Amino acid sequence: MCPGCISTLAIAAATVVQSSHSLADLAGDAEHAGSNPATGEPHDPDDEFGGEPLYAARTKIYPQHVTGTFRHTKWAVLAVTLAIYYFLPFVRWDRGPNAPNQAVLIDFPGRRFYFFFIEIWPQEVYYLTGLLILAAMTLFLMNAVAGRVWCGYLCPQTVWTDLFISIERWIEGDRREHLLRDQQPWSFERVARTASKHFSWLMIAWWTGGAWILYFADAPTLVKDLATFQAPVVAYVFIGILTFTTYTLAGWMREQVCVYMCPWPRIQAALTDEYALNVCYRYDRGEPRASLKKAAALHEHGEPAGDCIDCLQCVHVCPTGVDIRNGPNLGCIQCGLCIDACDAVMTKISRATRLIAYDTDVNIRNRQQGEPTSYRLVRTRTLLYAAIIALVGAIMTYTLATRRTEAVNVIHDRNPQFVRLSDGAVRNGYSLHILNKTLETQKFVLKVTGLADASIEAIGGEKGPNGEPIVEVGPDQTRQVRVLVTTHQRLEPGASIPLTFTVTGDRAGASASAADHFLGP
Ligand code: SF4
Ligand code: SF4
Repeated sequence: MCPGCISTLAIAAATVVQSSHSLADLAGDAEHAGSNPATGEPHDPDDEFGGEPLYAARTKIYPQHVTGTFRHTKWAVLAVTLAIYYFLPFVRWDRGPNAPNQAVLIDFPGRRFYFFFIEIWPQEVYYLTGLLILAAMTLFLMNAVAGRVWCGYLCPQTVWTDLFISIERWIEGDRREHLLRDQQPWSFERVARTASKHFSWLMIAWWTGGAWILYFADAPTLVKDLATFQAPVVAYVFIGILTFTTYTLAGWMREQVCVYMCPWPRIQAALTDEYALNVCYRYDRGEPRASLKKAAALHEHGEPAGDCIDCLQCVHVCPTGVDIRNGPNLGCIQCGLCIDACDAVMTKISRATRLIAYDTDVNIRNRQQGEPTSYRLVRTRTLLYAAIIALVGAIMTYTLATRRTEAVNVIHDRNPQFVRLSDGAVRNGYSLHILNKTLETQKFVLKVTGLADASIEAIGGEKGPNGEPIVEVGPDQTRQVRVLVTTHQRLEPGASIPLTFTVTGDRAGASASAADHFLGP
């Protein structure tokens, strides 16, 4: 079992043990522990799963509509993230006459990644490593501060599932109506509703797939080509694949992706601590549960009753079907909708809100023991994650701000490594890759230093007034040129002399160099 699962189960077990309600469940479970509840037969003591089937069929979830702070926040995040995803490819960014004007573009044929004013070349793929580190650390920091806030609000699976559920609710009705409809026999009206729901889902899925490929080519041109069936076949294939995956994952699989497929809940469980804010049922206040009538009766007899009236509203609104009152759960994406639902109930019965709230395990325990509560957002781990984010961000910003627009890479010939000429001179061959990241054509003068009496020649290049080789490189291009370095100097046997190749462009300060060796016989 992986550390994430162990940690999750440990946290869940710890909280369940503190809940009197869950203690009752545990006691009930213990009674059944000796036999298989399905067959009544005694368990095989060697069977570590107690004869329970390892497969459980999915129970369809009918999430109920809810309004409140967290639902409004989710709507806002959904609108912003989807607007960015669908419309960003159409945002233009002027980079000059020789460069694409799409703000965000992954240009595979041109081997470039454009992000507004940033242009990344294949040789600069380390920026991608920096971005991945930043993304991971941001996720860790979010987790340390507010648990699975990524899962609840920002994860694409959550955003599209939320959208699909809203469309389903709009067509099929809210929870109760939808449940009743699903129990009725098939009729023309039910078929029409189901068909229009799936058609709407497919249209969104198709648009989602279509938007994705717009990041890989000039968006307006590609849209025109797609509409007139002039686009490459691969574009239609990818739209088809992404339409299928969006429709399946957001329409059919929904919470199963979070519970069974996604690794993040397991990793997150291993990274969390007792000070992280999570959606919690404040069992110290809610237990023992009792309806309003039952609570009044209990109070009459001087017995305690908690604030939870067991109305199940928090369960009915949950998109993953979790009952948060049973403690932390791998299926809880911490969307906060149960908080909205419970707050509405508490307001209606004139009790204090936030029976379910973003809280910490430590605070719940402290409240139970009559100790003061506290929130520790600044902890070693939050400081560490923030420091790594700041450091990597600063390094990336500095290197981007000071990056050179010219570069050269050199590769020594492998075979032969040297050639002895008829006049006794020794010659080595190299391949030079000269990068011109500016938007103008540049002529580069080639020089080699480190070896006395060395001459340099570029195959296919021009010659300057002093016989120095000159290589022209187009705007935003790389040119590979074969270079021969020859010396008449007497070399020690097996000599390996360090060399530096320097290319100097037309622009002021446009120069770059690369090191290699000159090998002797
Ligand atoms: S239990 Fe609450 S916070 Fe967790 S997924 Fe369900 S509604 Fe969202
Ligand atoms: S919504 Fe609140 S009162 Fe109702 S069952 Fe959930 S926790 Fe209890």
